[in-house]
Amino acid sequence: MQQAELNPEQRLAVETTEGAVCVIAGPGAGKTRTLTSRYVYLVRDLGINPQNILCVTFTNKAAQEMKARIRAMTGDLDLGQICTFHAFCVRFLKDEGYVIGIPKDFIVIDEEDELELLNEVYETFGIPGNLMKFSAAMDVIGNFKDDSNYIRDLVLTSPESLREKALQSPDISDKVFYGYLWAERKIFGLDFDDVIWAAFYILDHFPSVKQKWQERLQYVMVDEYQDVSNDQAALANILSELNGNLFVVGDPDQTIYTWRGSSPAIMLRFPKSHKNCRTIKLMQNYRSLPAIIGAANSLIRHNRDRFPVEGVPIRRDADPANPSLVVFDGEKTEKESLAWFVKALLHLHKAGRGWEEFAVLYRSRQSSRAVEEALVRAGIPYRVWSGVAFYARREVKDSLCYMRMLTRGDDAAFLRTVNSPKRGFGPKKADALKVLAMREGISYYEALKRHIDEKPFNTKAIREYVAVIEKARASAAARKVSDVFNLIMADSGYEASLQLSGEDERLNNLAELRQAIANYESDADDPTSLPEFLQRASVFAEDIGEQKGPAMKLMTIHAAKGLEFPVVFLWGFSEGIMPSSRTSTMEEMEEERRVCYVGMTRAKDLLILCHSQGTSEASTFRYPSRFFFELDRNLVKLVRPLEPGLEESAKEALMYKDKFLTGEPLESSSWRPGDHVRHKVFGDGEIIAVAKSGAMTIRFPTLATPRTLMAGAPLERI
Ligand code: ATP
Ligand code: MG
Repeated sequence: MQQAELNPEQRLAVETTEGAVCVIAGPGAGKTRTLTSRYVYLVRDLGINPQNILCVTFTNKAAQEMKARIRAMTGDLDLGQICTFHAFCVRFLKDEGYVIGIPKDFIVIDEEDELELLNEVYETFGIPGNLMKFSAAMDVIGNFKDDSNYIRDLVLTSPESLREKALQSPDISDKVFYGYLWAERKIFGLDFDDVIWAAFYILDHFPSVKQKWQERLQYVMVDEYQDVSNDQAALANILSELNGNLFVVGDPDQTIYTWRGSSPAIMLRFPKSHKNCRTIKLMQNYRSLPAIIGAANSLIRHNRDRFPVEGVPIRRDADPANPSLVVFDGEKTEKESLAWFVKALLHLHKAGRGWEEFAVLYRSRQSSRAVEEALVRAGIPYRVWSGVAFYARREVKDSLCYMRMLTRGDDAAFLRTVNSPKRGFGPKKADALKVLAMREGISYYEALKRHIDEKPFNTKAIREYVAVIEKARASAAARKVSDVFNLIMADSGYEASLQLSGEDERLNNLAELRQAIANYESDADDPTSLPEFLQRASVFAEDIGEQKGPAMKLMTIHAAKGLEFPVVFLWGFSEGIMPSSRTSTMEEMEEERRVCYVGMTRAKDLLILCHSQGTSEASTFRYPSRFFFELDRNLVKLVRPLEPGLEESAKEALMYKDKFLTGEPLESSSWRPGDHVRHKVFGDGEIIAVAKSGAMTIRFPTLATPRTLMAGAPLERI
């Protein structure tokens, strides 16, 4: 059996098995490879039993991959302790939870379940949804769970007394928190925070359990340490305390989960907080071609809060005529930008790249919609690697089904919509309706209309559902698809229910679906044809079944952490997308920059940064990402030269916007609707609206539709 090749620093990290070791290195320096080799070294060369090693990865996928690799080198062994913190704690609690009364078959609560529980809490305790959004409630609950003391409340208190506590709490936060504990306790469900804190609580309060595990875990290793939260770091510490063999690897520049409690500081503190810690830096980059590394480094240097470990490239640019970093300064519309993207893909594929060599990475999930549509149209195989293809997402399916209720009214669409949002139409009613529909040979919905005055269907909520569908049906044929969509989303209460639960990502996907409808309307002969739109949408929905054979991979940058691909397209390299328009502080901007850095450094041979100036509506105009202007331009090949004046106006607009971030006072906009202005690129135009933020909507005769420009966009008065 052969061990992977290692350089001297990597070998040192592998062989320094005793004590605390901290490996800090940039992307592609072989941290994960070193960690894997160390595991093999412990088992094969030192004869350590895998039962005595805990190896923590960031995702389940990463754990699978690592197990496969280690198995290939060590033979078939039980590698159950190569897992995430979460999976480890679940296992731990199955064994040890009984000491505080956690049953072996406790339920693991995921994010969807959390919202279900909250729903129950709000109903049971009569909390009005507008008092505190679900997202805010989750924050409140998260804040309560910031040490392990609450575990006593959760597991050692009876459900009744938790309920009593929630009922008695005058304070809304307390009510939500104890209500939530009650809902969890009732079913013995433990969420993400609970499993970590419960494990921690047991280790803290039961010395014999602690000793048993500390003796068992002779070696603890953690990959992606830059993204652990405080509780995870504390757990790794306590588990490794007895033997002191804690090995962590990471890159503070790649911290991208601060919203979940990580911070670059945790890693930087590690050498100081662990006695006799050995810090090892890996300074070579094996992954990417030099231009990619150089450009990524030139970007991340704009972060102030960092500990630089910039590796030297090992690989050489093979062919200077074949650039490894390309920036596509997009077309005017999304459609044209996608056309360029597909052309570039086909070109590379023809030149010999297999589909599996490509990845498209984006900042947020809804961005996959445009890319997926383009790939389906071009017949290029792809897989959405993490999460679900756009047209298979719950909210997208739900709202398309609402629209289908206005055309076909089929049973599948009915069953999907009738109880979403909740209208008290459960499986029992569905069964009763099914019997009627079968007997009378009509659809469920027709049967419901026919029997709406009878029990059990004659409830207010169900009547309302029928009224909403009927009202929308009456006008659907004469209206634009977008109007029909807005009407049904508003009247059905579907969108409002997502707003209430604060499910921002789902709302973003609905906004993205609106964009798809707008695209359809600008293309179609008949923008009022709902059946035709639904038919087109169903094409995308059908095509997303698991593709066999080689396929491109689509995923968010967050999901691409730790991975590498020969060719990477960063889609949405535009201001307002990456960095996200929701960035509101300098710290958040540094995190956005790290996200971009992680995305760029996934590429081995070719990185293509793709910007699109606008959407099909062309109502918004986007500048290229500020990160583009921060890159070392000598390393970048532009697909075509920038439009003259674009860089200056983008930078001026950014400077103005950044005053928001730094808190500098803003001058109020001096522009008024009706002002005539001259723009360097778009020519002369007239301002039609000025928003509070100072953003202006301007009609330019050179453009088919008005553009929105950021406050501070350089304009000349004429
Ligand atoms: P990231 O920060 O992105 O997680 P990493 O530091 O974990 O990166 P790895 O994924 O372990 O880096 O390694 C990057 C690539 O370099 C892999 O393809 C790996 O096999 C290769 N590599 C690492 N070390 C060596 C080496 N000594 N010789 C040859 N190839 C190496
Ligand atoms: Mg790695």
